[in-house]
Amino acid sequence: MNPPAGRAIAFALHGGAGVIDPGSFAATRRAACAAALRAIASRAVQALRDGAPSLDVVEQAVAELEDCEFFNAGRGAVLNGDGVAELDAAIMDGRDRAAGAVCAARRVRNPVRAARALLRDGAHVLLAGEGADRFAAAQGLPLVDPEWFVIADRRAQLDAARAEGRVTLDHDERWADARRVSGTVGAVALDRHGHLAAATSTGGMTNKAPGRVGDSPLVGAGTFADDDTCAVSATGHGEFYMRRVLAHDVHARMLYLDQDLHAATEEALAEVGRMGGTGGLVAVDHAGQVTLPFNSPGMYRAWLDRDGAVQVAIYRDPEPAPD
Ligand code: ASP
Repeated sequence: MNPPAGRAIAFALHGGAGVIDPGSFAATRRAACAAALRAIASRAVQALRDGAPSLDVVEQAVAELEDCEFFNAGRGAVLNGDGVAELDAAIMDGRDRAAGAVCAARRVRNPVRAARALLRDGAHVLLAGEGADRFAAAQGLPLVDPEWFVIADRRAQLDAARAEGRVTLDHDERWADARRVSGTVGAVALDRHGHLAAATSTGGMTNKAPGRVGDSPLVGAGTFADDDTCAVSATGHGEFYMRRVLAHDVHARMLYLDQDLHAATEEALAEVGRMGGTGGLVAVDHAGQVTLPFNSPGMYRAWLDRDGAVQVAIYRDPEPAPD
């Protein structure tokens, strides 16, 4: 279905939802996070304006977020109970629901690129652990030593989580050191050709059990795209998103109940909330609507607004644009 004239493209990304205490959030850190989100979203929007396919745009935006140490994906990802980054990522094409995903990967530098390579290959949808890393290497994607992903703030965050015997969301403010770290990443886009795509990438949750896989790489849970309805990338406590099949729930509400994007995302997220899950999502629909709901105190996010400007927000109100 083609988007209506005048609203030819749509884009949104997130850098994770969670408890982000404004009082303990250093102004310089906050500004740096906002600047990174704005720069990555602006490049994505320009690519869409230039006619790039949504699938390429979400892959590139998520790869850039993976490379940014602020976020819980790629370098700077959270650590599992063994102190190792195990990485999950997925990408989905709304044209034909082609999808690729990797989970518990330890060596591929950009998990979303491995997911995209798997989508392109077409034989499988999800590869785990060593198989995912081997596939990525065979595709010519760079592998790194597992230590390359580890940054000092995440070690400190893991120590704090271990001390209390807890598994925590990636930037839960209970941990003093979590003030310097942010969340899971994802992007959704509608391109000029009327095609939707979604991608998500994460290290999951701090102090998670080795081998634990979250919602992000699971088609229909944390990531989903279908040109007839919407593209969704979720962030939050993955166990709840898996049990609610959140991203597909948004799609199903639009398809079967004829709900609009706003109602479908609000109600699907409310179901997660009723189960006790916190987090949020970013979504765009086939008509170019954009929504970014969350039930946590904040969510790092950026989007193309109705006036054609890129907005960035962490709490309810947009962050100020640079002069
Ligand atoms: N959803 C991710 C997971 O559970 C974590 C997050 O979004 O913060 O793996």
